Amino acid sequence: MANSVLVLGTQWGDEGKGKFVDVLTQQASLVVRFQGGHNAGHTLVIGDEQTVLHLVPSGVLRENVMCVIGNGVVVSPDALFSEMDMLHERGVPVEERLRISGACPLILPYHIALDQAREKAAGEHAIGTTGRGIGPAYEDKVARRAIRVQDLLTLQRFDEKVDLACAYHNATLIGHGMHAVDAGAIKHAAREQARRLAPLIADIPGMIDAHRRAGNRIMFEGAQGTLLDVDHGTYPFVTSSNTVAGAACSGSGCGPGTIDYVLGITKAYTTRVGAGPFPTELFDDVGAVLGERGNEFGATTGRQRRCGWFDAVAVRRASMLNGVTGLCLTKLDVMDTLDTLKICTAYELDGQRIDHPPIGADDYERCVPIYESMPGWQSKTEGATQLSGLPKAAQDYIARLQELTEVPVHLVSTGRERNENVIIEWPYGDLPGQERAP
Ligand code: GDP
Repeated sequence: MANSVLVLGTQWGDEGKGKFVDVLTQQASLVVRFQGGHNAGHTLVIGDEQTVLHLVPSGVLRENVMCVIGNGVVVSPDALFSEMDMLHERGVPVEERLRISGACPLILPYHIALDQAREKAAGEHAIGTTGRGIGPAYEDKVARRAIRVQDLLTLQRFDEKVDLACAYHNATLIGHGMHAVDAGAIKHAAREQARRLAPLIADIPGMIDAHRRAGNRIMFEGAQGTLLDVDHGTYPFVTSSNTVAGAACSGSGCGPGTIDYVLGITKAYTTRVGAGPFPTELFDDVGAVLGERGNEFGATTGRQRRCGWFDAVAVRRASMLNGVTGLCLTKLDVMDTLDTLKICTAYELDGQRIDHPPIGADDYERCVPIYESMPGWQSKTEGATQLSGLPKAAQDYIARLQELTEVPVHLVSTGRERNENVIIEWPYGDLPGQERAP
């Protein structure tokens, strides 16, 4: 039996990955984060309790599941510890369940200061980053000046690296009219960080390989979305890491053959946080209804998300980039009250019809969506678990999205609860917590 599943977002993030990551971790023995930092946010709802995780993989709430943070993730020790403390308060033995790669670049105070200074200096051209130092930490990684988790194990060498890094970055900070960062404070904090992190450092590629050889299920947990990928997204309005499926391998240390199934989580409409192109954005009442019914506020920043119609051009491209095996359509129920639905089937760019997204934000900004309309179902799909139980118009909408994106829709999510799903096709037996419809 094929085993390992990669869950990722096919839009601009916030597709509702958290719920499926959570459901699927129940069948996994290892859960792997491979990119991003604490700019990601997954909302897990179990019973009445809501837990928002930014850095720790979602499987941490489960017994018998190991969670690992792969080398592709940039790690803020402060953010990690506050999440670990929150989990402790809830009685989760997080130290037993979490391991981290020594190769993860650390996010240090100068990264945060630089991130904020740059966004401020960019004025109206700001990217809309979360200001948490993630971009600058990735820059240091490719510039080969990152200080990594492993460096905390040799503090004398760590201190030397901090001095060099502060000398380098403080010049920029002062140039931006900001205060220099205090190297002494970073070194001081590192003593406690080393004490807490050292026992968590492990050989992550070795762990993945061992689970794979044992035939256990590994679950790779993507963060953000495909259109925010630093290479393939709406550059420069993107995140600083690769979010596409291939990054699961490089960001954790395994070969492509380790992944058996790529689940593309796709909202039944589209949202985007922050600046950047968004051809199907709505500025009218319909946008407001989607935002309100969909509770479209960021899990990490609380920022209101921009809302719009389903963009089949974008999702078709995302499915191609990721080799998506099956789509999971989420938040169908949010559209229950709309009388007419529009789907973007192509763009018009400078008078030409195009069926694929242009490269880069400048051209993307000028794309005008070409829509087709479908009748809404105007009845309740919330909580539905059977395809035949969905209104005909909803079934038609799903079928049309499947045609336009050229990927099968395997799952449909109809509510926040983990059992509120329609399983159309799922190769691995029932989803945990849910009987398959007869
Ligand atoms: P993620 O980052 O992709 O996991 O997305 P979020 O953490 O922002 O989660 C999306 C939110 O939508 C959470 O509050 C979920 O409980 C909720 N949600 C997920 N799927 C559905 C659904 O099918 N219907 C509704 N109404 N809410 C959903």
